[in-house]
Amino acid sequence: MHADVLVVGTGIAGLSYAVRLAETNSDIKICMISKRDLLESNTKYAQGGIAVVSNFFLDSYEDHVQDTMKASGNTSNKKVVDFVVREGPKCVKELMEWGAQFDTKGTKLHLGKEGGHSAKRIVHHKDQSGLQIQNALIAKARSFQNITFFENHSLVDLITDHHIPNTKQGGCYGAYVISKKDEEIVKITAQLTVLSTGGAGQVYAHTTNPTAATGDGLGAAYRAKVHVENLHFVQFHPTALFPKIGGNTFLISEAIRGAGAILRNFNGEAFMLKYDNRKDLAPRDIVSRAIHSEMKKGKQPHVYLDATHIDTKILEQEFPTILKSCQNAGIDITKDFIPVLPAAHYICGGIDVDQHGQSNLNGLYAIGECSHTGLHGANRLASNSLLEALVFASRAATHSAIRLSSELLPVSFFESIPNWSGTEDISNQKTIQIRELRTTLQHIMSTYVGIIKSGESLQKAEKELHKVYVATKELYQQNKLTPQLTTLRNLVSVAYLIIKQSQKYPTNNGVYFNEDYV
Ligand SMILES: Cc1cc2nc3c(=O)[nH]c(=O)nc-3n(C[C@H](O)[C@H](O)[C@H](O)COP(=O)(O)OP(=O)(O)OC[C@H]3O[C@@H](n4cnc5c(N)ncnc54)[C@H](O)[C@@H]3O)c2cc1C
Repeated sequence: MHADVLVVGTGIAGLSYAVRLAETNSDIKICMISKRDLLESNTKYAQGGIAVVSNFFLDSYEDHVQDTMKASGNTSNKKVVDFVVREGPKCVKELMEWGAQFDTKGTKLHLGKEGGHSAKRIVHHKDQSGLQIQNALIAKARSFQNITFFENHSLVDLITDHHIPNTKQGGCYGAYVISKKDEEIVKITAQLTVLSTGGAGQVYAHTTNPTAATGDGLGAAYRAKVHVENLHFVQFHPTALFPKIGGNTFLISEAIRGAGAILRNFNGEAFMLKYDNRKDLAPRDIVSRAIHSEMKKGKQPHVYLDATHIDTKILEQEFPTILKSCQNAGIDITKDFIPVLPAAHYICGGIDVDQHGQSNLNGLYAIGECSHTGLHGANRLASNSLLEALVFASRAATHSAIRLSSELLPVSFFESIPNWSGTEDISNQKTIQIRELRTTLQHIMSTYVGIIKSGESLQKAEKELHKVYVATKELYQQNKLTPQLTTLRNLVSVAYLIIKQSQKYPTNNGVYFNEDYV
């Protein structure tokens, strides 16, 4: 299989990249793969919406830039923040032209408010913004003949010089990919490869991310010696629902605090003012640590979110998913306090890219949550990630089109790339052992590399993770490769990088908190 562009991942980043490229270049062949079906992604679960300046009477680019810089403790790259904020409105308009529908008030967009934002600027569709965006993008992408989809196909490794005898061009030429159904490893070669594989929340035991968010793009990039930066900046969302639903941790969007919900400890005390004068709408790192501290003080496994004073009609209209999901867990949010705790939510770092989404490996782009653009610095401002994905997808698509019109590798080169070679005939899958290792890894990360870290806890984590690494390596060398085993290999790489980068980080900043530095 050969394409002009291979896009790995079909969330907002991958899909909007492909749509933009296909719309302007009908002759470019794009191949997209997704680990599950096209819909399943972090994007699908986004509730709040997209942070973008749209009401220029009450808001400004300067304010959005300042809020982003402030949330990151001035560690964001100001140049990147500037262009992302300014290019955002155009990208959101384009998204709406492609079919996404957002809530309106009269003729204007209805804007939500979230923590760390000085103005109402969150464009949303009820509390199902991501689902709305994802469905619209899938429908749009499907309308192009030059986009081919392979669902339930998982990235194994990027194809680089390492896989091709006597080659030293320093490029990326596609990927080896494994199908879920028959576990066959196929080679997809491409002039350009785009990683849009999303998040890595599954490296932790409690995460708002779906099970497929295992940092596969990060793992593959790391193995290909691509620069991966700032993984120690793991953002914990302050308010995940305490009881798990179907084994998953459900997010209670910040937007509900924007609408007036208040955090209370076990004594019913509204505690946020003790920690920050922005109270419940302080940036996420501050709220998460405050909750962690209240849980520790009260020796309780969660705190409460009180939405009982909010008009029931508003809850029904603006937060139908939260209302229903809590109901499923036996909680009536119009009458009961909601038990909540922080959960791993977003990794601010990722594959280091330039302003066009290009990594240091020639021909490899990274966009969306798996990338590190400099926008978030040490702490992401709420709802800036969908925005980042849109803007960088658009930039990367424009850049890709220019590259494809000039620098092409000959077809004979791609034909010389060997098929995957591995221990494919041994069929002992060791599924239970793989599952146990994954659980052990998540436990290590949550226990020792969570909201509050220390030199000692990081050392323990490194030691324990090494055992998981050795066991995984053994499985990899001795068994047929399966999607589960590839995933475990990536989780180990991401966990290792988070630990090592944490150990090297010398100070407390944004979401990174080491108690030794206090
Ligand atoms: C519960 C929740 C709520 C959120 N709310 C908001 C919000 O309100 N506003 C906001 O800005 N951000 C929010 N975020 C963050 C935001 O949703 C994500 O950062 C964003 O959707 C990431 O988009 P993406 O395209 O980079 O990745 P994703 O949407 O995660 O897509 C990743 C894609 O990569 C594929 N993939 C992964 N691994 C492989 C592999 N090995 N092989 C092939 N394909 C692979 C997946 O199948 C998927 O198609 C939220 C996140 C969560 C989890």
